[in-house]
Amino acid sequence: MASVTFENIVKSYSGLEVLHGINLDIEDGKFVVLLGPSGCGKSTLLRMLAGLEEITGGEVSIGGRLMNGVHPKDRNIAMVFQNYALYAHMSVRENMAFSMTLKKMDKAVIDERVNWAAKILSLEDYLERRPKALSGGQRQRVAMGRAIVRNPDVFLFDEPLSNLDAKLRVQMRTEIKELHQKLKTTTVYVTHDQIEAMTMADTVVIMRDGNIEQVGTPLEVYDSPANLFVAQFIGAPG
Ligand code: ADP
Ligand code: MG
Repeated sequence: MASVTFENIVKSYSGLEVLHGINLDIEDGKFVVLLGPSGCGKSTLLRMLAGLEEITGGEVSIGGRLMNGVHPKDRNIAMVFQNYALYAHMSVRENMAFSMTLKKMDKAVIDERVNWAAKILSLEDYLERRPKALSGGQRQRVAMGRAIVRNPDVFLFDEPLSNLDAKLRVQMRTEIKELHQKLKTTTVYVTHDQIEAMTMADTVVIMRDGNIEQVGTPLEVYDSPANLFVAQFIGAPG
């Protein structure tokens, strides 16, 4: 577990600035949602935290340690994407073990961590299956399993539920929140869906056009929106 700090973060793509000086402190153990319309810079900010995007200006820290220039593999973060990115030719167990296998960890330790994650995610009965023999929700859980086995300091989610049907989406919201309540790992979760944000966040960060418009609890931003944009965005039907 660790805090996350963005200090005056600027990002440009080929000279075009898309993030204009983002300042944000994320407390240890919090579930923070970056919310805003498509193109406002949520994924870019998340990818800079993950080390997948070069930083044009400013500083990113995890647990008080400056991350600028630190390789993604050395950041102890885990990212869950919307398309799962599971390996089709591997079993659930192998998918979950993969990052630890790469690190040449002890087989007994790997087994122990996979079994622990499978239990938390109710995947014990599916460990020997291939992803194609799983439901959408189960695949999503495998993707989360792959993230939690590494015991990361921070979880990053980029619109993980946007490919799921409405019913499953609601179920997975609950599962992700339960997972957070069990593990209390600092989480940064990106969505453009205000209902998802309002139901899941401890803190919601509302973004527009590369800036932060407001930071607060769901109740605070709902009751006291900082401006018309926030009011309309929060109030808009999903
Ligand atoms: P969001 O995740 O909120 O939808 P993004 O972070 O993906 O927004 O994008 C923010 C802005 O940066 C958009 O204007 C997008 O077109 C631009 N952008 C994102 N990635 C790239 C890239 N690799 N090259 C050029 N422009 C990009
Ligand atoms: Mg995005």
